[in-house]
Amino acid sequence: MSLEKADALVIRQVDFSESSRVVTFFSLEFGKFAALAKGAKRLKGPFDAALDLLSTCRVVFIKKSSGTLNLLTEARLISRFQPQNSGAGGGLSSLYGGYYVAELLSGLTEDFDPAPEVYNLAISTLAALSSPENLSSPLIIHFEISLLRLIGLLPNLFECSVCGEAVQTGKKFAHWVSQGGVLCGACRREDFAGVSISSGSIEILRRLTQESAETICNIEFTGKQSEECHKLAVSAITHALGRRPSTLRYIQI
Ligand SMILES: [Zn+2]
Repeated sequence: MSLEKADALVIRQVDFSESSRVVTFFSLEFGKFAALAKGAKRLKGPFDAALDLLSTCRVVFIKKSSGTLNLLTEARLISRFQPQNSGAGGGLSSLYGGYYVAELLSGLTEDFDPAPEVYNLAISTLAALSSPENLSSPLIIHFEISLLRLIGLLPNLFECSVCGEAVQTGKKFAHWVSQGGVLCGACRREDFAGVSISSGSIEILRRLTQESAETICNIEFTGKQSEECHKLAVSAITHALGRRPSTLRYIQI
């Protein structure tokens, strides 16, 4: 048992009793962890509004030995997620984008496995989703691809998984989900159900891994490329989770 401090993003909340909640955080220092927040459901509870979904806060908690629930003792709000308010569904698409970020962090990371780069990716993605100048789609695709790369699940985008032929411009490839790679036309079999992806989209995916959420506007996608990149990411994510993310139905690319 030890007293710990962390900068943490609220990614999930589950009611525990009439007045308390179990809150799941993704933190800079510890990665993901859950803690019991006693009194969190009371109107004038001890944590005020610091524990709203997708808020970032400075927390103090008692880390229990494995098998026992950690106990939250303090939470001070650093910033709140403020989805854009611009027209044409902009606000909703950035709000749902935020929920999707939270679900992927919750489902694809392990407890107490520190990953500061994943934390920074999530914080910068939520900040970019809050800016009215940004479109949500490229930010969501960037988050998917960057998260897959950071947790070691991004498919090999450089060569065919079977024959090793380099990915070249102008050719068609297919995503081989279970092997975490791509297949060239010659190695693709008829009974293979993988999603097709053009070399242009593969090029975009490679570039995405080198940009941050702030510089993502440097990349120009066509609608078809966005769709292909998102499909490849969703196949890899679904394979890793063992199911389709439930917030995915609200995401429009
Ligand atoms: Zn091949």
